[in-house]
Amino acid sequence: LMQLAQPLNFIGMIYREIRQGLTDIEKMFDLLAVRREVFDRPDAVPLEVTSGRVEFRDVRFAYDPERPILKGVSFEVPAGKTVAIVGPSGAGKSTISRLLFRFYDVQSGNILIDGQEIGAVTQDSLRAAIGMVPQDTVLFNDTIAYNIRYGRVDAAPEEVRQAADLAQIGAFIQRLPDGYDTTVGERGLKLSGGEKQRVAIARTILKAPPILILDEATSALDSHTEREIQSALDLVSKGRTTIVIAHRLSTIVSADEIIVLKDGQIAERGRHAALLAERGLYASMWNRQREASEAEERLRIAREED
Ligand code: ADP
Ligand code: MG
Repeated sequence: LMQLAQPLNFIGMIYREIRQGLTDIEKMFDLLAVRREVFDRPDAVPLEVTSGRVEFRDVRFAYDPERPILKGVSFEVPAGKTVAIVGPSGAGKSTISRLLFRFYDVQSGNILIDGQEIGAVTQDSLRAAIGMVPQDTVLFNDTIAYNIRYGRVDAAPEEVRQAADLAQIGAFIQRLPDGYDTTVGERGLKLSGGEKQRVAIARTILKAPPILILDEATSALDSHTEREIQSALDLVSKGRTTIVIAHRLSTIVSADEIIVLKDGQIAERGRHAALLAERGLYASMWNRQREASEAEERLRIAREED
C-alpha cells in the first residue's frame, strides 16, 4: 500500500503547486482527473450576494497538519470597502485568498459572505461572485479574446475590447500578428508577467464581480508598467468589496483597513497613518520600501544624466 501511496502523494503535491497559479480551477480538475479537496455539500444552495460583505472569524488552516499556516485570523471587509493584507513573504497572505475562493476548506473558524458560510453554498455560485487576479496568471492555450471572455462567456467582442482597453492591454493586443485571435499560452505566444496580469485584469473587468481579490505581485515589474496596472486595478475595485494583497505599500495607503499578517496571525491593523504612528512592523516595512524607492530614483536620475 505504501508503494501506491507515495506516487499518489507526489502527484497531489505537484497538482497543488500547479493549481495555485490557476484562475481556472474547474478545467484543471478535469485536465488532471485528480481528486479535488473541496466538494459541494449535498444540501448546498446558491450564494445570495446582497451587499458583498466578507468576514473571516477565527480562521485556522494548515496545508500539512504538522504546520499551521493561519492561526486564528479574524477580519471583516464591509460591502464596497477595501482591506489590504500586507506582511512578510510566507505569512499566509495568498492562503487567505485561496480560502475565500474555497480552493481549500478551513480547519476551524468561519468564512462568510453576506452572512452565508462559504462551505454551505455551491462552488459555482461562490466563484461567480468573486473575481481573482492571482499572483501568477496561467493563460489557456487559446486566443487572447477567449482568455478575456472567460470572465463572462456571453460578452460581445466590443465588450472584450473595452475591458482590454481599461486594463491597459488593448493597444498591445492590436499590435499582435492576429490581434485578438492570436493564440497565447504555453503553446502559443508567451506573454510577460505584466501582460498576463493585465489579461487577468481585463477578464475581471468583464466579469464585474461584487467581490475582488487582488494578489498584486507587481514588485517584479518596472515602475511604469506597475503604475499602469495600478490604475487599472483602482478602476476595477471602485465600489466593490476588495481584498488587496499588497507588496508595494505605496499602493494601499488609502485602504479602509490595513492588516499586517505575520506568521499566520494579525500583528497590526488600522489605517495607514495610524499604523505609521505605531512605529511597529508596518512602519518599518514602509520606511524600508521608501528608502529603496528613493535609492532607485537616485539611480534613475544618475543614469539619465550619463
Ligand atoms: P504569502 O502569500 O504571505 O507569501 P502563502 O499564503 O503563499 O504566503 O504561504 C504561507 C505558507 O504556506 C508558506 O510557508 C508556504 O510555503 C506554505 N504553503 C503555501 N502553499 C502550500 C501548499 N500547497 N502546501 C504546503 N505548504 C504551502
Ligand atoms: Mg503570496
